[in-house]
Amino acid sequence: MDNKISVTRSSMPSLDEYVEEIRTLWDSHWLTNMGTKHKQLQTELEEYLGISHVALYTNGHLALENAIAALNLPQGGEVITTPFTFASTTHAIVRNGLVPVFCDINEKDYTIDPMKIESLISDRTVAIVPVHVYGNMCDVEKIDKIAKKYGLKVIYDAAHAFGVKYKGISAACFGDASMFSFHATKVFNTIEGGAICFKNDNWVQLLDDQKNFGIHGPESVCYVGGNAKMNEFQAAMGVCNLRHLECEIAKRKKIVARYRERLSSVEGIHLNAIQENVESNYAYFPVVFDGYKYTRNEVYEMLLEEGIMARKYFYPLTNSFECYRNYPTAGAEKTPIAQHFALRVLTLPLYADLDLENVDRICDLILGN
Ligand SMILES: *Cc1c(COP(=O)(O)O)cnc(C)c1O
Repeated sequence: MDNKISVTRSSMPSLDEYVEEIRTLWDSHWLTNMGTKHKQLQTELEEYLGISHVALYTNGHLALENAIAALNLPQGGEVITTPFTFASTTHAIVRNGLVPVFCDINEKDYTIDPMKIESLISDRTVAIVPVHVYGNMCDVEKIDKIAKKYGLKVIYDAAHAFGVKYKGISAACFGDASMFSFHATKVFNTIEGGAICFKNDNWVQLLDDQKNFGIHGPESVCYVGGNAKMNEFQAAMGVCNLRHLECEIAKRKKIVARYRERLSSVEGIHLNAIQENVESNYAYFPVVFDGYKYTRNEVYEMLLEEGIMARKYFYPLTNSFECYRNYPTAGAEKTPIAQHFALRVLTLPLYADLDLENVDRICDLILGN
């Protein structure tokens, strides 16, 4: 028997269900360019998320890059963001010709600390790009207040937050727009894929232009757009996976409950506080080792020796990447709390079909039983 446990495992429908879903594509020979599956997924997501507009993308990163581009911000403008994230967030800002200004995170849920945003605002600040880390919601109310006070745009990187609700409202609905990733490793996947969720009707045409070469008709190109379209096979995967989403989240919830039962109230092990008013999607299970008998790196190695993949997520911080070394705003020492957690956090294996015996095995190894 193979005892290896991966940190994640993609949710998939049965092969029969997927084949049934893509059968019509063989009849129509329409494989991409906003076909029927694309339309169906878009409509179903707008309904599920309770948002007026969803634009679908070939991946989450291009969705985020396009959302930031849609704001049409002045080149060289400063964007306040968090370094405690995946490379994509910071790269999307920089690839738009903007300058990332790194704000520290809070200790409770690892999202951007709104108390520290204001002191970073200058006359060059144009936007805020916060991240809902691990599916924890940012303090959307405080961020909204700051944005209004200073006239700043807000784009949420909600890659981790599909299925999360704050006070009953989905993570799609905050800021000027929110980006979801539907990558294979996320709670909901379209193999690769992503979306921008927004309310501004004027963005519908603009986003279409951006992701399809600005083509308006066979003889009319009105905008210098790129190509970031979601294809029909991705959309069909999404249609299938959306049917099973609630069930997948419920399974994840049980696994997280078992991890919490085994690892809470252990000296030196810190678990993410459960957020008030938030319905979680149980996307990740982060554990912080601080003053524990083993360091984070020791636990990582111990698990690896047993064929269990945990992930140093997020480490290193994006503000210490080699590619940002020469940026005046870079440097992990400027965000000490983010650095503290980057050095101590490990996300444990978590996917819907992880069985509880394996959760116990992982916990036994961590506890040294
Ligand atoms: C996955 C992820 C992305 C990028 O999404 P892709 O679909 O992989 O392009 C961006 N930000 C965060 C926080 C992510 O976890």
